Amino acid sequence: MSRASKCCEYCKSQDKYSPTAFTIDHVQPQSLNGTSDADNLAYACFLCNRLKSNKSNVFDPITEKWFPLFSPRQDTWNEHFAWSEDATQIIGLTAIGRCTVKELRLNREKLVEYRQCIISFGMHPPDS
Ligand SMILES: [Zn+2]
Repeated sequence: MSRASKCCEYCKSQDKYSPTAFTIDHVQPQSLNGTSDADNLAYACFLCNRLKSNKSNVFDPITEKWFPLFSPRQDTWNEHFAWSEDATQIIGLTAIGRCTVKELRLNREKLVEYRQCIISFGMHPPDS
């Protein structure tokens, strides 16, 4: 939780504004032999964890290749994602970022509404 600055390591939602408890995600799913060691765990909101499920690779229809989902333990968020100018949308900068935005629906309607709401209080985007 502290390593993630209390934010979902995928969508960057802040746990203090979430009505649901955040979860611990196995970056490499346990069903694919992922361990419960700290270097395989990520702090994630409930929906990102649920949408990620046991996936580790996703198919990119643009390049027609398989790419790994973003790994908070191996990848750097700012290298794969950026905020839109108004900070309500996450933009995938790379194939990994693009596939992760799509698969985890990082711009789901309620997330965008949440971002719009806390922007008005100067509380978004979180420091990274
Ligand atoms: Zn999330």
